[in-house]
Amino acid sequence: MPRCAGSKGDGTPCERIVGASSRFCFAHDPQKASQRSRNASKAGRAGPLKELREVKGELRTLAADVLAGGVDRDDAAVASRILAVFLRAVEQERKVKELEDVLPRLAEIERRLDAEGGRRWG
Ligand SMILES: [Zn+2]
Repeated sequence: MPRCAGSKGDGTPCERIVGASSRFCFAHDPQKASQRSRNASKAGRAGPLKELREVKGELRTLAADVLAGGVDRDDAAVASRILAVFLRAVEQERKVKELEDVLPRLAEIERRLDAEGGRRWG
């Protein structure tokens, strides 16, 4: 079985099995780089941003309905408070995802700096 000719982030060879007609797996094929980044940005849009947009729409509808007299003001106040809590939850989720993305990279930078320091001064 042919294996991918690319290498992983740590420099070791990628071991994914590829089709007979290709040299690289999807993650390492240079010709699929633009498709990869498109997929990544699509994945980013599907999460918190989509939810934020939906809630914004709901709030706008709610405000219009209250002003038009179609919704009880107390009900609208409760609904908007719930939506506000929901927005805070979405924001927290976004922060956690951001940290989950950044922390491993930070650890990797620290690891490299340590290795460098060890060579220079150790
Ligand atoms: Zn690969």
